[in-house]
Amino acid sequence: MDFTDRVRRVEPSATLAVSNLANELEAEGKDVIDLSVGEPDFDTPQNVKDAAEAALEAGETGYTSSNGIPELREAIAAKLRGDGIDYEAGNVIVTPGAKQALFETFQSLVDDGDEVVLLDPAWVSYEAMAKIAGAELSRVDLSPHDFQLEPALDELAAAVSDDTELLVVNSPSNPTGSVYSREAMEGVRDLAVEHDVTVISDEIYQHINYGREHVSLAALDGMFERTVTINGFSKAYAMTGWRLGYLAGPEELIDQAGKVHSHSVSSATNFVQHGGVEAIENTDDAVDEMVDAFESRKDRLLELFADHGVDVPEPDGAFYVMVPVDEDDQQWCQDALKDAHVATVPGSAFGTPGYARISYAASTERLEEAVERLAAEGYL
Ligand code: PMP
Repeated sequence: MDFTDRVRRVEPSATLAVSNLANELEAEGKDVIDLSVGEPDFDTPQNVKDAAEAALEAGETGYTSSNGIPELREAIAAKLRGDGIDYEAGNVIVTPGAKQALFETFQSLVDDGDEVVLLDPAWVSYEAMAKIAGAELSRVDLSPHDFQLEPALDELAAAVSDDTELLVVNSPSNPTGSVYSREAMEGVRDLAVEHDVTVISDEIYQHINYGREHVSLAALDGMFERTVTINGFSKAYAMTGWRLGYLAGPEELIDQAGKVHSHSVSSATNFVQHGGVEAIENTDDAVDEMVDAFESRKDRLLELFADHGVDVPEPDGAFYVMVPVDEDDQQWCQDALKDAHVATVPGSAFGTPGYARISYAASTERLEEAVERLAAEGYL
């Protein structure tokens, strides 16, 4: 077969090598502690399951209107109005996962040769989606600034110009857990307005935040018309396998992205969307419990690293921490997996070599054992 340039521009996911090796070790009967995964280790709240089940029983099994059921689009818009953004149901497309929302956004906004700016370390799929759309990437490295954006605004200003089409901001961030300050977000706003740049604000970890202010970019003066807000249900409500997310933006974007949406996925799954309404409206307590658990695991993990003399920039959200490791981080991750049976993701997968991403969506006991094993094998 003769494959397209578009698909050949993209590498397979860099986490693949780690998960293949982890699977091999597990098949040999080894007890692998998998800290490479990007999903909560909790089950979906029961009331959400019940709502989806009731919808299934009630025969909600057909296609829905392409952009989503009205109840969910309205519930999402109301939630976003609570974040200070003036969206109505017509500003929302419900998608099978936030990933699809991002994909539709890139397809709608990026032409061949357009410049897309990423903040490194950046979640792996931004690069892939940008390249599939034909983008030229420009990257700003936040690692010299403890992964914070505010001290890197001058570097961002140097990277953004009138030629920039799109900037991607993800706060709280995967893989660093950083939550960007209001000042940082206002700096982004000033640049976006000055250079007429559209911004993707990926807020999927919004609710997993340990007390810092969450700033939605679209809520800032001058940003409504130039922001695409991305969010979803996977992380906050432990619903990764349900595949439910959304994009929100000005109606002209909804018209264009809606074409990609209807001609690809048609709609998100009908009864899943009914579960989504329940998740948005009635899960505050369950979310608080999960966030408390993530925070205490994060505290314990940082304490353990400190005991071993490893200094890790403290995350304020999400459930990841970037740990400084050898310069050849891919080798470090492979060796740590082989010797200590602890799976992590190399920082180079996110554009930042010299680090490993550890997900602490695992029990405290497993986290303690992982650090113990890494130390015993000489990796800390
Ligand atoms: N954005 C970020 C930053 C993520 O980490 C993820 C999931 N790993 C997604 C988007 C996509 O999430 P989903 O498709 O499960 O909603």
